[in-house]
Amino acid sequence: MTDKTELERILEYGISGVPQIKADEKRVWLGEFRERVILGLTMEQAVMVEAFSVVKRFLKDPKSEILIVNNNIPMDIVRNYMVLAREMDKEYKSMATDAKDAMGLVIVSRSAVQYENVLVDIEPIPDKFKNLTNKDLCGDCYDELVELNPDIAKEYKRIGFFGKLIGIPCNSCEK
Ligand SMILES: [Zn+2]
Repeated sequence: MTDKTELERILEYGISGVPQIKADEKRVWLGEFRERVILGLTMEQAVMVEAFSVVKRFLKDPKSEILIVNNNIPMDIVRNYMVLAREMDKEYKSMATDAKDAMGLVIVSRSAVQYENVLVDIEPIPDKFKNLTNKDLCGDCYDELVELNPDIAKEYKRIGFFGKLIGIPCNSCEK
């Protein structure tokens, strides 16, 4: 078991003669083999606010062990991913690369998982749900968001009976 880990480590850092095809593969997946990848986000996706909850969901996969972020991602976004990795007890790494085809973020296992679908679509949510000072939403807005993106909706709160009673306004439509 120890031997295998040592071998894997060598392969992972490309110290030994890794075939070119593997080098190409690793360039794309931020230094990892495709067979270990659980989720891959492009640079464009990784900087979307909507990506955060997607990453969180994939980190819940028991096989996910390391969150790797492309170091071209702005620091304020990187910081959120670092905190998330720590909260979820996963290893965090950043990868220095200038490869045009490199992913923006990947979640990997330390061993082969052979997942077929590791790319996802991330639907942008409407502006009215962005940059809110708090996460209280009226029933209508909340339902709309659940419909659009259940992952994101989890970060918001539906104003309940008591909230309505004391007049907490919806942070989105302000009703
Ligand atoms: Zn509302």
